[in-house]
Amino acid sequence: MPSNMKAVFEDPGIICFQHCKNKVFSIKLLAKCPECQTELNSDDAYKMMPFRLPYPFIKPHQHPCSIILRPTHGDFLNDYFNAMNLHIGLTTSNGTIIEFDQWGLHKTPTNQSDTSHWSQSLIVETMTEPWYEHWDDILHKMEKTKDTKWTSAAYHEDTFNCYTFVLDFLQNLNYGTLSAAAQNRTTFCERYIVPRTTAAGKYISLYRKIRDHGFYIHTNSACTAAAAAAAATATTAVAVASNAIREGSD
Ligand SMILES: [Zn+2]
Repeated sequence: MPSNMKAVFEDPGIICFQHCKNKVFSIKLLAKCPECQTELNSDDAYKMMPFRLPYPFIKPHQHPCSIILRPTHGDFLNDYFNAMNLHIGLTTSNGTIIEFDQWGLHKTPTNQSDTSHWSQSLIVETMTEPWYEHWDDILHKMEKTKDTKWTSAAYHEDTFNCYTFVLDFLQNLNYGTLSAAAQNRTTFCERYIVPRTTAAGKYISLYRKIRDHGFYIHTNSACTAAAAAAAATATTAVAVASNAIREGSD
């Protein structure tokens, strides 16, 4: 990657604009159109004014009562390649992260989540406020079995992992279709996880093209986030097998 582009953990701020023939994606405004080399020094230089693409990742402490997802190792933008190593967790109503891994059931307080491995997460689903109390209540009950059920010793990478904990929680939550889907690992994965990782995978792919080449020219179709997504070819494998969500230390 170019030396002036370091790995980022915040929104890189991908911009889309059009000067002549095609839509161009870059991190910052370019001095010249990469297609025709005309200088881009005023607003009227653009066929379509630059706009910023929505960033798909979130900071969990800003999203209470949510199901959250991250790569087991590293972060989505730089390290994620496929769903073989995803890690899933939950937030409480005050944004504390609760997760189950090889160290058992444990929490990351709100004031530490920015520096944790969760600082670039995806939201799988989030609750509306009337559900907060019930959500916390179910979590609290599960925490009481921290030393009997959700222990480090009971943990198994494939069969009793982060996903087991989250699905168990969702079943206990009794929240309509979400809890119904949580009865089955594959069903939940197909309905709630694959759509999120697929959308993010397209953004990641686009980001890496820009990171590696300074910009990306997308030939044809409209310049929307959806088009940007479509532009990003499937270099990021996103097919998720439900049993592939596993733990790992980092
Ligand atoms: Zn041009």
